[in-house]
Amino acid sequence: MSQEKKDIDPRNSLLPLMESFYTIQGEGFHAGKAAYFVRLAGCDVGCSWCDVKESWNKDAYDEVEINTLLERARRSKSRIVVITGGEPLMYELSDLTRLFKENGFKTHLETSGAYPVSGAWDWFCLSPKKFNPPLPEAFTLASELKIIVYNHHDFQWAEKMLNQVNQACKLYLQPEWSRSGLMLPKIIEYVKNNPHWEISLQVHKFMDIP
Ligand code: SF4
Repeated sequence: MSQEKKDIDPRNSLLPLMESFYTIQGEGFHAGKAAYFVRLAGCDVGCSWCDVKESWNKDAYDEVEINTLLERARRSKSRIVVITGGEPLMYELSDLTRLFKENGFKTHLETSGAYPVSGAWDWFCLSPKKFNPPLPEAFTLASELKIIVYNHHDFQWAEKMLNQVNQACKLYLQPEWSRSGLMLPKIIEYVKNNPHWEISLQVHKFMDIP
């Protein structure tokens, strides 16, 4: 007997969209895999080095039906959808992830963890930010902890965050792109001395793809 499908709550059927595109995941555990990206607009976390500052103002973008997002993603050959931002957890995402999962997608999230978690996630990438640290539930759910290393203090920050994630969580240090020349050699040394960490590079930027 087929399961009855729940209706989409009209309050959650529209989301502010900065862009959506089919590309190769460039970071973390799933780097190198084709995936459809949905970048929601809106973020108030305020990272000084943010490379998508144009995403911060959600009012600069149209709201898009989640069915439209699904239809776009279905035109790709991948069945991984990555929901990113901005800060996607500013929105109630349960209907979005249910819709994608009902249609055979794996749902991946990229979040700072600063907002309450909604949605059902096959992969939960937690990238905590000092300016607005994660809520406890984000640590519990994290499949991957990705620390952006901008300066020396970020190594201490990384260890503090590490103490809060679950045992199975993958651990990545990723140089902030504009400081990569300075920080990557230090990250390499740090990982050699602390091999529970791995290095994540933004390989999509080396490939010059979105
Ligand atoms: S959480 Fe992400 S989108 Fe928001 S300011 Fe920080 S890097 Fe930018």
